[in-house]
Amino acid sequence: MKINYQIELDKIINNIKEGQVLKLLLHSCCGPCSSYVLEYLSKYFEITVFYYNPNIYPPEEYSYRVEEQKKIIELTEAKNPIHLITGEYEAEKFYKMARGLEEVLEGGLRCHKCYEMRLRETARLAKEYDFDYFTTTLSISPHKNSQILNKIAEKISQEEGVKNLPSDFKKNNGYKRSCEITREFGMYRQDYCGCIFSKRESEERNLKKAKNELRKKAKEIALDLDREYMKEADEKIIEKLRMRSEYQGAKNIFTYVGKSPEIDTSLFIKKAWEDGKNIAVPRCRDAENMDAIIIKSFEELKTASFGILEPEFNEDLIMPKEEIDLVIVPCASADKAGNRLGFGRGYYDRFLENLKAEKILLIREKQILSPIPMGKYDQKIEVVITEK
Ligand code: SF4
Repeated sequence: MKINYQIELDKIINNIKEGQVLKLLLHSCCGPCSSYVLEYLSKYFEITVFYYNPNIYPPEEYSYRVEEQKKIIELTEAKNPIHLITGEYEAEKFYKMARGLEEVLEGGLRCHKCYEMRLRETARLAKEYDFDYFTTTLSISPHKNSQILNKIAEKISQEEGVKNLPSDFKKNNGYKRSCEITREFGMYRQDYCGCIFSKRESEERNLKKAKNELRKKAKEIALDLDREYMKEADEKIIEKLRMRSEYQGAKNIFTYVGKSPEIDTSLFIKKAWEDGKNIAVPRCRDAENMDAIIIKSFEELKTASFGILEPEFNEDLIMPKEEIDLVIVPCASADKAGNRLGFGRGYYDRFLENLKAEKILLIREKQILSPIPMGKYDQKIEVVITEK
C-alpha cells in the first residue's frame, strides 16, 4: 500500500513543541532541489545541508552545483540557521557501485543504489554528530519515486540507529515552488539528474525532441511544395544520379519506392531496369528490420502500412546485403553534409550499419534543413544529390 509521506512528515512537525528546534541533517543533491525544502523546513529545524554527490559528472558540474548550493543557502530567508558541509567527491565509489547497471534507465536499480549510497553516508554523519533526523531533498524530483526512497531511508535508519524524516517534497506543489524560487534567484537548473548515464539519457531525450520538431517542419515544407517544382527537381535529380559512377558501376541496387511528396523514384526504377540493373525495394520483416526484395515490375507492389508500396515477402527474392552495390536512401530531410533525418523508426540506420555498399541520398533543395542533429546510431550518407 502506498504511504503518503507528506502526512507522515506533517505528524512529526505537528509534534514539535513550541520553541523546540530540532537538528536536521539534510542530504542535498543540488541547490534548486533544496530551495523549496529549505524554505519549508527551516521554519521547524536547524538544518545542516550535506552536499554529498559522488555521482555527479563531469567534475566541473559537481563544483558548479556546490556553488549554487551555497548561493541558495545565502538567499533563503530562514527562521533558523542553515549550515553547509560538503562530502568527498568520490566518483570512483559511484562507478564501482554502478558497474553492470550503466544502461539502466533513470529510476531503475542503479538509482536505488545511488540513493542508498548517499543516504547511508548522510545517516552515518547524522548519527556521529547527534542530529535528531536525517533526510534528503531527492523526493522533490518528479523522476524519483518517493515510496522507494523512503523505504531505503527507513532501512538505513534502522541499520544506522538514527531517525529518518519521511518526505515527499513533491506534495504541496514543492517541485513547482522550487522552480519558482530558482527562477526568482536566477539560478542554474541542470537538465539531467547528475551522473554520466543520466546526462546521456537527457541528451538522447533532447535529440529526439529536436528531431521530432524538425520532422514536423519538414512535413510542412513538403506539403507546401509546388507540383511543377517537384516534377522538374525529381527529373534533374534522377538524371544526376544516373551520371554518378556509383550508379554506373552498380549491378544490384536497393532503392525505396517514393510516395508523394517524397522523390518519385519510380522514374529512377524504370530507367534502372532499362539500364539492366537489378532492383530491390524494402519490405518490413518486423518492427525493426527490413529485407531487400527483388522486383521486376511495379505490379508486384501492394500498399502496406503508412501507405508505403511493398512487395510480398519471398525468401527466394531477397537480395543478400553483401551483394548490394548501391543503396538509395530516403529521408524526411537532410543537410548538405549528409546528416540525415529519417522517419523515426530506425529501419535504415539499422540496415545500413556495417553495410559496404555505396549510399546516396536524394533530396530536393527546398527540403534541406540545416543542421540536422545526429545521434550515435544515425548513419551519415556521404553522397547527397539535389537538383542543383
Ligand atoms: S540517474 Fe540520478 S539517481 Fe540515478 S544513478 Fe544517476 S545520478 Fe544517481
